[in-house]
Amino acid sequence: MERSLINFYQSLPYALRSVTASTWGYYLRWLRYSRETEKLAADALQRDHWTPSQWQNWTGERLAYILHRAATRVPFYRDYWSGRRARGDRSSWERLENWPLLNKESVRKSPEAFVADDCNPRRMHVWSTSGSTGTPLRLYWSRRNIQRWYALFEARSRHWHGVSRHDRWAIVGGQRVAAIGKKESPAWVWNRGLNQLYVSAIHLSPTVAETAIKAMRHHGVKYILGYPSALQVLAHHARQSTISLPMAVVITNAEPLSEMQRSVISSVFRCPVRDTYGSAEVVAAAGECESGSMHLWPDTGFVEVFGDNQEPVPAGASGELVCTGLVNDDMPLIRYCTRDSSSLPAAAESCSCGRGLSLLGTVGGRVSDVLITRDGRRVAGVDGIISGSLPIREVQVIQEELGRIRIVYTAEKRLSPEYQRELTERVVEVFGETYVQFDWVPQIPRLPNGKFRSVACLIPPEQLPVNQENLHA
Ligand SMILES: [Zn+2]
Repeated sequence: MERSLINFYQSLPYALRSVTASTWGYYLRWLRYSRETEKLAADALQRDHWTPSQWQNWTGERLAYILHRAATRVPFYRDYWSGRRARGDRSSWERLENWPLLNKESVRKSPEAFVADDCNPRRMHVWSTSGSTGTPLRLYWSRRNIQRWYALFEARSRHWHGVSRHDRWAIVGGQRVAAIGKKESPAWVWNRGLNQLYVSAIHLSPTVAETAIKAMRHHGVKYILGYPSALQVLAHHARQSTISLPMAVVITNAEPLSEMQRSVISSVFRCPVRDTYGSAEVVAAAGECESGSMHLWPDTGFVEVFGDNQEPVPAGASGELVCTGLVNDDMPLIRYCTRDSSSLPAAAESCSCGRGLSLLGTVGGRVSDVLITRDGRRVAGVDGIISGSLPIREVQVIQEELGRIRIVYTAEKRLSPEYQRELTERVVEVFGETYVQFDWVPQIPRLPNGKFRSVACLIPPEQLPVNQENLHA
């Protein structure tokens, strides 16, 4: 959303904000769901019990169709293959191993070159991803494919755990739904169109969290979805409040879930916490079942694991997840490098839940800490404050002391003073008076396990305000 629009939205009284959010929610409901949804979801649940050979046939056929469509209808790939043909290379495009790896940068530079020529990008829906690493990408989707994806999500993120999109739920996310510092404006908004209470992770002071928790109870929220770091903050406040708020399930996304986060969230909301894995580009997805195994969703993407030498590693070994999306056939991304690390099992493992979906090893992806304001508020989802329409590729937010924040970024050129001022304002709005330093670097280093640390709190424990002892856990 444009900054001026956000400012306008934040200036509205709560009732009007709720109407605005609900109107947007009704639009999203129309976009994501239709009469087909229940049938598509039921089909997905049936496929959960397929045998490996049934899956092999299905993914083989779908992959062949996607590769053929990419090679013949997608400008980027058509040029690529005609270049190879011109050099006398007769390799078949029907075999995935003959395709090159694709990185985010190529898609970011010219997203329209990945759209099939029988689609009109101007009539498609644009998903702009920016949150996770600060690398904005434009992805083009038809409504039909959006609905195919949301049906898979409905089946495996909700139905697996006994809830549905018709139940009332809460999402804890990085969107700013209220102006900070205005006491009368709550940090949450009810979205009638999606049956959803949107709770802003960046507003969660103890008092605000308490009103958010009351609102969750008032609206009869049955389950919560959100980032582990944001849910950990909410759980922390909920534990100190006198209100008890049992849930059916808490579903986490976007960040790896630590065992400590799982146990805190689970004990506060008295329910299981289920982890999911997915990429914003929808080239792969996986979800945890009731037995605690992470199952791949093979109809979302075909997954390979690559080592540092850019070659596939043997099953069981870990490396980067390289995925070919099977949902969006209008913008096919083939062998897309996700920058997340994991492994595929060496031998077929069965799960006590009875599903035949293969398992995914522990995923190392983005790691995000909680940062601290001078008045002791814990702020999760800080990269949500930073991301937006800025000419940056990757961003990392580091806090080494209270009242000081360092924004490390990669970009083609140094951020202009105007952009620096705008980012500083966004930080000050949340953290109060803060010195913001900008570091333009060629590359943001990964942690030894390949994780990308998007938000890092490096304040020594002895300098933390009281009651922050669990912060680094
Ligand atoms: Zn299972």
